Amino acid sequence: MQTFTLHTHTVGFDGANTIAEMAASARAAGFSVLGVSNHFIVHPDITRARMYPHAVRGGYDAIYLDSFDRVMEKFRPHYAELRKFQSDTDMRILCGMEVDFFPTAWWRDGFLRAIDELHPDYVIGSSHFVYYDDNLCNVHDMANATPDVRDKMLQMYWDKVAAAAASGLFTWIAHIDLPKKVGLGRDEKWCTAENRALDAIAAAGIAMEINTGLYKPEIYEPYPSARILRAAAAKNIPVLLSDDAHKSCQLGRHFDDAYKFARDCGVTNFATLHNLLDFSRKTI
Ligand SMILES: [Zn+2]
Ligand SMILES: [Zn+2]
Repeated sequence: MQTFTLHTHTVGFDGANTIAEMAASARAAGFSVLGVSNHFIVHPDITRARMYPHAVRGGYDAIYLDSFDRVMEKFRPHYAELRKFQSDTDMRILCGMEVDFFPTAWWRDGFLRAIDELHPDYVIGSSHFVYYDDNLCNVHDMANATPDVRDKMLQMYWDKVAAAAASGLFTWIAHIDLPKKVGLGRDEKWCTAENRALDAIAAAGIAMEINTGLYKPEIYEPYPSARILRAAAAKNIPVLLSDDAHKSCQLGRHFDDAYKFARDCGVTNFATLHNLLDFSRKTI
């Protein structure tokens, strides 16, 4: 079973626990390596997105930033704290980030400058937004749109995932079918779009996560769905388990079930830590 957990969030971003609390729980849960991957979300229009006032009310707006200067102000002391913590523990601590990909030259430039200074051990590519009609829209905005607009947004979502994979910037792709969170994209008609994204992942030689954050009694399935995971297995895409822990008690959640689910879908290529850090050296 996987002895590392790399998709986690801590206090100061949108997590509930400190690095020390996360490390203690990870060790107690049997992990020898903890990677911390707080959100790296930069877009000039983010503060006028529909979701932004909800984030302010919920107290997690600190993860949504409109400039690279501001994201660096957060990540510089955060990585210094992680590296200081590493020097005081025998557990292996890695510096990661969960990055929202945006397909513009401005974004790519700023991102490359940021990682050049921060030197993360790995970067997770994610897509929590699509830019539709001059607005940054999340999956809830997609769910609230008219059927016609919703389909356009979903198509944009999948195109953006494919572009993220093809960008060569990421170690692996997070929660690939995120719109499933609000019940979207389950229809067979999305197979073509899903397959294009998987082909981009396979061509880039990067990995994909099975994210156990979605397991709930009413939807007992991770991201991605069995349909996507079977297609990924057929393309021999390396897979890792991620708990997306925002609290220390969520570390390693449902890993046994997710591992079995992956095996049942035909996955045999489970990424090792060595593989992942190796991809990372090539991509970052
Ligand atoms: Zn995420
Ligand atoms: Zn996450």
